[in-house]
Amino acid sequence: MTTIEYDGLYIGGEWAAPAEASWIKVHSPATEDYVGRVPNGRNKDIDRAVRAARDAFGDPRGWSRWEPHERANVLRQLARELESRGAETARRVSIQNGMPIELSEKWETRNPATLLNYYSDLVTGQADELRQGIKGKQTLVTREPVGVVAAIVPWNVPQSITFLKLAPALAAGCTVVLKPAAETVLDAFLLAEAAMAAGLPAGVLNIVPAAGETSGYLVRHPGIDKVSFTGSPEVGRGIGEICGRLLRPVTLELGGKSAAIVLDDADLENNVEALLSSTLMNNGQVCWLSTRILAPQSRYDKTVQVVSDMVSSLEVGDPLARETRVGPLVSAKHRERVEGLVRQGLAQGGRVTVGGRRPKGFDRGWYLEPTVFANVGRKDAIAQKEIFGPVLTVIPYSGEQDAIEIANDSEYGLAGSVWTRDEERGLRVARQVRTGTIGLNGYATDPVAPFGGVKSSGLGRELGPEGLGNYQVLKSIFLNRPNS
Ligand code: NAD
Repeated sequence: MTTIEYDGLYIGGEWAAPAEASWIKVHSPATEDYVGRVPNGRNKDIDRAVRAARDAFGDPRGWSRWEPHERANVLRQLARELESRGAETARRVSIQNGMPIELSEKWETRNPATLLNYYSDLVTGQADELRQGIKGKQTLVTREPVGVVAAIVPWNVPQSITFLKLAPALAAGCTVVLKPAAETVLDAFLLAEAAMAAGLPAGVLNIVPAAGETSGYLVRHPGIDKVSFTGSPEVGRGIGEICGRLLRPVTLELGGKSAAIVLDDADLENNVEALLSSTLMNNGQVCWLSTRILAPQSRYDKTVQVVSDMVSSLEVGDPLARETRVGPLVSAKHRERVEGLVRQGLAQGGRVTVGGRRPKGFDRGWYLEPTVFANVGRKDAIAQKEIFGPVLTVIPYSGEQDAIEIANDSEYGLAGSVWTRDEERGLRVARQVRTGTIGLNGYATDPVAPFGGVKSSGLGRELGPEGLGNYQVLKSIFLNRPNS
């Protein structure tokens, strides 16, 4: 395989020489081979990127001053440039994080363009609002871009998550310093190529990969007006503290440990594909997956059987092979962490019905068999901790209220699902689960619907008009003229 190497950082609309010649190297999780490298950004690079973003934001013809339809034209061109690089984007994502190629083609090539087009439409449709005052005089309520945004993203679904931030931020008139995760830098640099080809003005988007300490420097940088972060609760809490002290607006999309509540009338057997995509996509490395499957006592054994059959039918293998449903985990370190949780599950009395080991026949790569645990107690470590790997737990419950209590007995509150033939009953249960999102007989986010969590799953919402609001500040202009 030819390697992919970049010598510069994307700053001010061009490939800028990095402050230091040090590199972030990427290895394939499937083969452990070296696949490419980019410069490792330092504080000086962050300084330059923030300066470029500030200049692009505010000068007399800056991005924030463009008419929404002018920005939308460029963003729609960026969507086309990304679409024309779709196959290469999918390939780069899969060779870096192990995502099965069919999934990267579905998510990572389509979502960015969809989001750019959605937010372009939304921002061009927005207008100032004239409000009739209670005290008899009118106020004009306007929206302004919040400023320069630091966008920090994880490796698991890198392009889609990047565009949850970039699309609304750029549409609103903000400029951005993007900090991709070290594991997935090569797709981010392809995005830089697309941005140049689309004619995105210099400095509107800057891309600087960096280690944790330098990323913290970006969060605290005086030139940043807003931070948008997706990642782990540990790092998110630290960012929240910094932003709290600085009174800097922040959006935090963090972890999850969602529940699939299987009601006693559910038709799981005929819904296996939906169950799979709600519980085990992307090798279990998605924040919203319903990895705790709650089954009624009366149908516990049957549910364990359906889930185990589903998981044992999955083809494990090379993420670039079309038949692969489960690829490797992102890194050796991450696999060790997941294996540690599997050992903890066994030590606490869990019974592995499928998987639990490294698959035979793979002497290279960070593979782990997709795994199902039965006999799991609701308080067990594998029922409480986010595993972020292909491990499902099936937990028994004794009635609808018990199921809701177990679902809510979590430090997280991002997502979930309810499985039933009765929509009204499903809705009644869904309303009682304390999460930011939930699905009936499946789970899939949509650009129009706000997405985000409660409790340790984060602060704020992305997607929908609310996602655009993250990057706008409201200004009330009191007109001092009578109501009309
Ligand atoms: P992570 O928190 O380790 O890293 C996320 C990003 O933060 C990376 O770009 C990383 O380099 C950067 N970072 C690390 N230390 C930093 C610091 N001190 N200051 C600023 N930035 C820093 O998370 P991860 O391992 O990449 O991703 C997995 C986690 O992300 C899981 O917990 C998962 O649930 C969560 N996640 C949440 C969502 C969501 O939308 N809620 C989506 C995907 C992933």
